[in-house]
Amino acid sequence: MEQPKIGYFGKYGGRFVPEMLMPALLELEAAYNEAKAKPEFWKELDEYLRNYVGRPTPLYKAAKLAASLAGGDNGNNYPRIYLKREDLAHTGAHKINNTMGQVLLAKYMGKKEIIAETGAGQHGVATATAAALFGMSCRVYMGAKDIERQQPNVKRMQLLGAEVIPVNQGSETLKDAINEALRDWVTTIRQTYYVMGSVVGPHPYPSMVRDFQSVIGREARTQILEQEGRLPDTLVACVGGGSNAMGLFAPFLDTEVNLVGVEAAGEGLITGHHSATLAEGVDGVLHGAFSLILQDEHGQVLEAHSVAPGLDYPGVGPEHASLHALERAKYFYVTDDEALNAVITLSRTEGIIPALESAHAVAYALKILPELPSSHCMIINLSGRGDKDLNIITSQLEGRL
Ligand SMILES: *Cc1c(COP(=O)(O)O)cnc(C)c1O
Repeated sequence: MEQPKIGYFGKYGGRFVPEMLMPALLELEAAYNEAKAKPEFWKELDEYLRNYVGRPTPLYKAAKLAASLAGGDNGNNYPRIYLKREDLAHTGAHKINNTMGQVLLAKYMGKKEIIAETGAGQHGVATATAAALFGMSCRVYMGAKDIERQQPNVKRMQLLGAEVIPVNQGSETLKDAINEALRDWVTTIRQTYYVMGSVVGPHPYPSMVRDFQSVIGREARTQILEQEGRLPDTLVACVGGGSNAMGLFAPFLDTEVNLVGVEAAGEGLITGHHSATLAEGVDGVLHGAFSLILQDEHGQVLEAHSVAPGLDYPGVGPEHASLHALERAKYFYVTDDEALNAVITLSRTEGIIPALESAHAVAYALKILPELPSSHCMIINLSGRGDKDLNIITSQLEGRL
């Protein structure tokens, strides 16, 4: 059998970067491999995850949600839906699992400065949080348009001591911020660690971010065995870059469990205003990795759209592109409207306001639930809480609340 190439998932992945970045990536790969083999690295990270981040997050059986869909009042006769409550982690989403791991690695590497990119600001806040905790300076690149749209997160980062650097190139959003952060890294490699926010970018980021997020799936596996005495039938998670989904899926890849990723169809695929990279993307290179990307006929990367700020990325992690090609995971998409309806449904049946991103996973579950047998058991990754989205939600739902 052919040996799998390091840093590849099938034909996807790799390291497509300017030569000047190669030493930094090789240094990072070596440092991560070394830390990965050290029990004290994982012990230190685990202590922070427990006592600082608040792990393990609960696996909550959403019986009211299941019952409301079946139209009755007895949750026991309906499919069992569990919510993995990443919304209860410190800073309100799964992103902190990754930034704690990477900033701790930066400390092991003797780095003093942290850089990151951010779109909606969630990864920037999670990075600034970890940098504050470990006493490191932090620069966050953010598109000028995003800075305008996401003022609360800009203020949070500044309060945490981070410098937010506006990016005026291109569409002034996430993909341009990543380009600028990579440019910064090239010139400050010796003292700087670049914290990537999802399972994207050149090797080793997709594997490393997956490993740090896999705590979600490991906990869920233990918790579902405790509560149900068996593995679930289906896992559902939203997919932007794909880190919360990969974190949930990874510890189940060797099982028969169905893996479902849900992308943002935005205003509908035919309108062109969407972020459904796995559904509509083509093979190409974006931000240092070969994967599926949204691009026009001239090869220009398209601007992605979603009502959920964390989903509008025109690429996707290479491991998802591979799982998609292998059909080991299935990918579906839901529209802005379906996600907004799911926010209302979950809020009113369970008293949990989900992030707009997570609401995409919930919306998919709501769609297929009526067709499932009552023996079905599903885990939905509730990747974050909705407080950050209140302005968007209330303006979109005007008159319906
Ligand atoms: C950023 C974000 C996402 C999307 O990122 P992934 O890497 O696909 O997980 C999903 N949910 C929330 C709450 C986020 O903040």
